[in-house]
Amino acid sequence: MNSEQANTVSNSNLDNALTVAKFGGTSVADYDAMLRCASIIKNDTSNRLVVVSASAGVTNYLVRLGQKDVPATEQAEIIENIRAIQVNITQHLSSTVEAELNQEIDSLLTELSGYAEAQATEHTTKTADAILAFGEQFSSRIFAQVLQSVGVEGEYFNVQQIMKTNSLFGKAVVELIELDRLCGQVLAPKLVNKVIVTQGFIGQDANGNTTTLGRGGSDYSAALLAEALKATNLAIWTDVVGIFTTDPRITDQARAIKEISFGEAAEMATFGAKILHPATLIPAMRCNIPVFVGSSKEPEKGGTQIKKKVDSNPTYRSIALRREQTLVTVKSPAMLHASGFLAKVFSILAKHELSVDLITTSEISVALTFDNPVGSTQSIITNTVVAELEQLCEVTVEHGLSLVAVIGNGLNRAHGVGQKVFDTLEGINVRLICHGASANNLCFLVDEADANPTVEKLHRSLFA
Ligand code: ASP
Ligand code: MG
Repeated sequence: MNSEQANTVSNSNLDNALTVAKFGGTSVADYDAMLRCASIIKNDTSNRLVVVSASAGVTNYLVRLGQKDVPATEQAEIIENIRAIQVNITQHLSSTVEAELNQEIDSLLTELSGYAEAQATEHTTKTADAILAFGEQFSSRIFAQVLQSVGVEGEYFNVQQIMKTNSLFGKAVVELIELDRLCGQVLAPKLVNKVIVTQGFIGQDANGNTTTLGRGGSDYSAALLAEALKATNLAIWTDVVGIFTTDPRITDQARAIKEISFGEAAEMATFGAKILHPATLIPAMRCNIPVFVGSSKEPEKGGTQIKKKVDSNPTYRSIALRREQTLVTVKSPAMLHASGFLAKVFSILAKHELSVDLITTSEISVALTFDNPVGSTQSIITNTVVAELEQLCEVTVEHGLSLVAVIGNGLNRAHGVGQKVFDTLEGINVRLICHGASANNLCFLVDEADANPTVEKLHRSLFA
């Protein structure tokens, strides 16, 4: 190949590179944060689709606004607070752009007040979703202008044109075939000479109602868009410099991981600190798109690459911790040599849309763990569920437990893993152990009070 040919090849490679960049709430929290994101986009021209979350704090306000019986004075206060967050950003833009954006923000806020008022009288999950979706609508409009202010051709795009979902408000399911088709038809042509800025988290059902994909869903939106566009990379920009060997708030020994396989990262996303929305890796794995996780505050520090094949496959990669787990033990002599008992238990759980994380069984009892959404005041296992299970068997429910997951490679085959892990934990009461189902994961439950010391001790022993 002569040098001219080589040039053509590398240029066409460059032309084909397409990164979907997702910025989380803290990355678009204020003007300075947005400006840092804008330079990330400017510095790498493969960044052609930007997916944003709502500015930090806004979705939480909207959650409150979408609840029942919010007094009118509180509604007004919340709307004022949201306005303050957004206009604090727009004031840094040129006065014409500021005026234009503020006008759009105010007309959206008027619409929002209407929904809030309606919601206070007659609460529906449909209106709750309409309310929740405003945060991303503000941040995407503003960020497109911030891009323009640094000389990047940024353009706002309403993702609802292509992110079609069913009508399961609050956790809508995306119509993947439609997304694929509409991405090709509507979105891809726009990426040729513009950087498109769109919303994570939100969609639209067949009746034109706004839907949302669940809290933290922007990562997942970005991954779905990357898949539909056949992007070469997905970059998740957040406020941590990648995925760590464990939560750095627990031990200062924690360090950032350079690269990690899809399999390991999927276990971490499910069992670990909630850096990525757990569903994010599904589309990326389906079409083998490498995922980068880094901090928009310190992009120069690099981050973590998540991909199919990594150079090293250590036995121990990280330790994840998830608090507020509920352990349900169901016990029945009827289980002895009988069939169909578990099927009945699971059909009750399925009816209540409860997702089981860990399971262990003995001859006459089964222990199951459930994750309680962060910040929720009510246990995911309601009295109704317990009553229905009690029709079948004896039921014990325990709270205040933490799930510790040791993530790595070949954990189900490597010699001495169990010994190494549990020898370290002498003196700590381990409630339940799951080992063997996955090569990438060994996990167990401990009391909430033992969670931090457990992680600290294990980290010292496995990563010293
Ligand atoms: N803004 C939404 C939330 O706070 C979605 C996201 O940030 O991923 O849950
Ligand atoms: Mg997030």
